[in-house]
Amino acid sequence: MDTSAFQPIQGMTDLAVPEVSLWQRLEADARRTLALYGFTEVRTPVVEQTAVFTRSLGETTDVVQKEMYTFTDRGGRSLTLRPEGTAGVIRYALGLGAEADGARLYYIGPMFRCERPQAGRKRQFHQLGVEAFGVPNPVADVEVIAMQLHLLEAWGLQGFTLDLNTRGMLEDRPAVTQGLADAARPHLGALCEDCQRRFATNILRLLDCKKESCRQIVAGLPPTTQFMSADSRQYLDAVLTLLQKIGVPARLNPQLVRGLDYYVHTVWEIRHGALGAQDALSGGGRYRVTLGEKTFDGVGFAIGLERAIMAVQHDQPEAATLATATPVWLVSMGPAALAANLDLAQTLRRAGRACGLDLATRSMKAQMRAANKAGAATVLIRGDQELEQGTIMLKNMADGSQQAVPLADLTARLAAQLILKQ
Ligand code: AMP
Repeated sequence: MDTSAFQPIQGMTDLAVPEVSLWQRLEADARRTLALYGFTEVRTPVVEQTAVFTRSLGETTDVVQKEMYTFTDRGGRSLTLRPEGTAGVIRYALGLGAEADGARLYYIGPMFRCERPQAGRKRQFHQLGVEAFGVPNPVADVEVIAMQLHLLEAWGLQGFTLDLNTRGMLEDRPAVTQGLADAARPHLGALCEDCQRRFATNILRLLDCKKESCRQIVAGLPPTTQFMSADSRQYLDAVLTLLQKIGVPARLNPQLVRGLDYYVHTVWEIRHGALGAQDALSGGGRYRVTLGEKTFDGVGFAIGLERAIMAVQHDQPEAATLATATPVWLVSMGPAALAANLDLAQTLRRAGRACGLDLATRSMKAQMRAANKAGAATVLIRGDQELEQGTIMLKNMADGSQQAVPLADLTARLAAQLILKQ
């Protein structure tokens, strides 16, 4: 039989133990940290009308042109699996009306991009992102950056760097485009094919081309700030000064542009040394998006969670082996003991104690093997004799000792045993 039909789709993976425990920890740390800053969660659908993305991300961006999973539904509508989180959150905020101003929201969930799968690049991946709505203000940008670093530290990460730049105001764009075009035109023939296309459609993207030959040309181009207004340059200076004041080490990187059209003023990227070629852990920036009648100003970031997990595994190898053991295992000799143990298991679980039991009355040996496999520290054994006497055999797996315990004393004994184990 051809089983390839039952494999996950290329570039998409199942997530389960043991990694999923680390995912849960990172998510819990994030929820706790973001709440300290007054951010609340929003869960938007993973599918949106295609226009939600094309309008906000920009028609000429790589994501929109090459990477979106777009399909026509049965009603003839063009829908898209979300490639990023900001556009959907803005679509949600549109419905909030005046309350959208000042909203502080975060999301955690899967994103979809039809990219060539490779190490560190998936077609379904997960992002944690935040959006803080409000008019451009360097303090707002720095607060969000500071929160992000707080979060990365809460995760136990150390080996990361923060690069920062400005995209300037929308009004600066014609002058920036013109200035860059004039400076790059003499080198046009030496640029890669993609950059020759970008020269005409989205010239800023020349700056972050990864090809060595293009990078050498780009290194010789003037910084875009040279073509920006004094207001934009002052905004950048204010951000850099504030970052310095609160002790955030940021590197000004004139080549950093970020891939989407909606960015204005501050943009940043966080890289981590453990991630190999795809070393971007997170991207962020201030944006201005017009959807329908309303223009949204905001600042936010998105962290790739697959990459965050890799970075945590690197910086804190011990975090990768979070306990998943079941501390108590119930062994039943015979059907009457099994029924009584099912009842006991429920009592223990309702009291907050994780436990497991064999659901069929197998041999003692098979049940003890299951207890070992589950990593149980304590095994409780019952047969007809214990049932008659109102006792249960408590076996300590660490030293092999066992003792008959009256049922009435069980809770206290388990508490003592498990505390001793810790
Ligand atoms: P972006 O907005 O494209 O810069 O994405 C933000 C972050 O999401 C990146 O820094 C990566 O950590 C992560 N990311 C983006 N695309 C992918 C992908 N295809 N696979 C895994 N992670 C990704």
